[in-house]
Amino acid sequence: MTKATSPNAKILYIEDDPASRRLVQRVLDNKGYHVVVAADGLEGISMAREHHPNLILMDINLPNMDGREITTRLRSLPNFSDTPIVALTANHSAGNRELALAAGCTGFLTKPIDVSSFPGQVSAYLNGLSDPLTADEKSEHLQRHAQNLVERLESKIHELESANKRLRELDRLKSDFIIMVSHELRTPLTLISGYAHLLDEQVKQTEENLSTEMVSGVAEGLNLGVTRMRDVVNEIIKVARISSGTLDLALGPVRLCEVVQDVFEEYLEVLEKRQINVQIGDLTKLPIIQGDGEQLKSAIYHIFSNAIKYTPDGGSIFVVGRSVGDTVDLIIQDTGIGIPDSEHRRIFDQFYTLGSIEHHSTSKFAFQGGGLGLGLAIVKGIVEAHNGRVWVESERRDLDQFPGSTFHILLPLEHVKQPAKL
Ligand code: ADP
Repeated sequence: MTKATSPNAKILYIEDDPASRRLVQRVLDNKGYHVVVAADGLEGISMAREHHPNLILMDINLPNMDGREITTRLRSLPNFSDTPIVALTANHSAGNRELALAAGCTGFLTKPIDVSSFPGQVSAYLNGLSDPLTADEKSEHLQRHAQNLVERLESKIHELESANKRLRELDRLKSDFIIMVSHELRTPLTLISGYAHLLDEQVKQTEENLSTEMVSGVAEGLNLGVTRMRDVVNEIIKVARISSGTLDLALGPVRLCEVVQDVFEEYLEVLEKRQINVQIGDLTKLPIIQGDGEQLKSAIYHIFSNAIKYTPDGGSIFVVGRSVGDTVDLIIQDTGIGIPDSEHRRIFDQFYTLGSIEHHSTSKFAFQGGGLGLGLAIVKGIVEAHNGRVWVESERRDLDQFPGSTFHILLPLEHVKQPAKL
């Protein structure tokens, strides 16, 4: 590499802290250096390859690869065996300097930089200065450096293995999900095509006009199929909105007693058919909360429909509410099959359904009838968008004794907007 001193020298600064980047850049720019910056190690390596800097300033504490590791890597590349690489670190602890030099750094400077002497120090390294390191110090610290590398490699392998496991699990859940969506859509499609077929037959067979009764029966059947399909599609859209953080809340005063009553009334027919007894406590005294009534209704709807689905015929569902400080805790308890302790968190994950999809039934409110595994993910998304919390308490899963499950939805009275998650 050709030597270049100010004002022609090009300097690459690898640093994750924007304030340090700006300061060093300004100080060196003023002296006529051409400074390029990279925010992490991998970007730093590719910028080094692209820009061929005359000197590299290297922060040591960087995320992912640290400064020593990047230096070792750069030294193994053909063009960087002689390039001055100067460690710049706020870590003053003993041995750090030697470790950086053993890893391949030419020099070692501490942060914060001294603005008046810094350009002179940089110029000295550009002109061939290199910090001394005895052979003994070098071999001792090289060994430490190698041990650190192996240790980091081990922890990275663990990290990758668990990320990989999680991805495989997600991949499986998504495949199951695709199978379930096709099941869910096939049922209403069969219904719709059946009714359309029936109508066609009737038109062909009947010489006179079709009876109003017949036509309205067919229309009802078609409507049922379409509604069912729309529900499935809406569920998928809602979960996609929650995942992408684009679920917008239309805030207003919400009376939970009215929301619960609305949900309950939608289920009257099913509850009667399944002989499930519902007891709703006095929710009229609960404070009015600020939230999105429609979304909260959909959250309660999902928990209530699960309570029905996982409770055998003749069981009970209890709904009570209490105000706790400046929050409201809505509790929905059932006398159903229960949920094992190990699954209390995972049931709120997208696509997660407990049990095999072979047992998946498309009958929505039949005892243990399967769903898409999106219901509780939607509930969690809606409740968290309100800065609330949802969780379940249940002793175990038991299909003989029915220990039941208790879901809590804890909502703040006032909606306080949280900064967006990065
Ligand atoms: P699904 O569409 O499968 O019902 P959910 O996200 O609503 O998906 O629920 C995830 C899983 O949590 C269900 O498959 C079920 O095993 C379990 N679960 C949810 N609610 C209850 C409940 N009240 N009693 C027992 N198990 C429940």
